[in-house]
Amino acid sequence: MARQLTDEVWLVERPRVNVSLVDDDVLTLIDAGLPWDGPAIREAVREIGFDPDRIKRVLVTHFDLDHVGGLRAFPEAEAIHVGRADADYVRGDLTPRLSDRKRLFQRLTEFFRKPPQVPVSPVEDGETIGSFTAVHTPGHTPGHTAYFSEKLDVVFVGDLVFSDGQALSLPPWYLSQDTDQLRASVDALASRLPPIEVLVSGHGEPLVTGGSQTLQNMAQETCGSGGNG
Ligand SMILES: [Zn+2]
Repeated sequence: MARQLTDEVWLVERPRVNVSLVDDDVLTLIDAGLPWDGPAIREAVREIGFDPDRIKRVLVTHFDLDHVGGLRAFPEAEAIHVGRADADYVRGDLTPRLSDRKRLFQRLTEFFRKPPQVPVSPVEDGETIGSFTAVHTPGHTPGHTAYFSEKLDVVFVGDLVFSDGQALSLPPWYLSQDTDQLRASVDALASRLPPIEVLVSGHGEPLVTGGSQTLQNMAQETCGSGGNG
């Protein structure tokens, strides 16, 4: 149910979405799965050998039900960090409007979502949280944010790109609010990443080696100028 990726990083395998546990300066969760994933994530954290009540921080890549649904299962966290443009949605202060397909999906799933009890902290581009640096990567959602740690040799890219364990691909257009912006964000992240081996996307099999290089190659192939980082 959980798989160790590095000394400090575990993948909590859920059927439809990736959740990760990181032993950073504090125990940190990356995304929180679907609403019904909460108890299973807690159980997986116990199996790894940590008390789930020790999770003090959640880094959220973006507001989509499959990434924020389980947040209420972690009431002991001190803060939920999420890109500024998505923060009001996570708080429940804003409800997505029905202006496009993507938001329709979000609205339909609103039924399952309740705001978390823990304070939501809006994340700025370049902000550091523990050993992680946040990179604003809009496109899939306006506030979509990737988090990388050079120290821990891992980058969490959310739904910016999907990974199958060997290659990366752009998510299908109907899942993204702005595909041009998405491509620009791939390019931007690729150029800013230091050399990092492990790349975990919101869905699919993580890359365990060559993560930043694979993203940079993909940026060059599909997104124009590409990264040179
Ligand atoms: Zn997703």
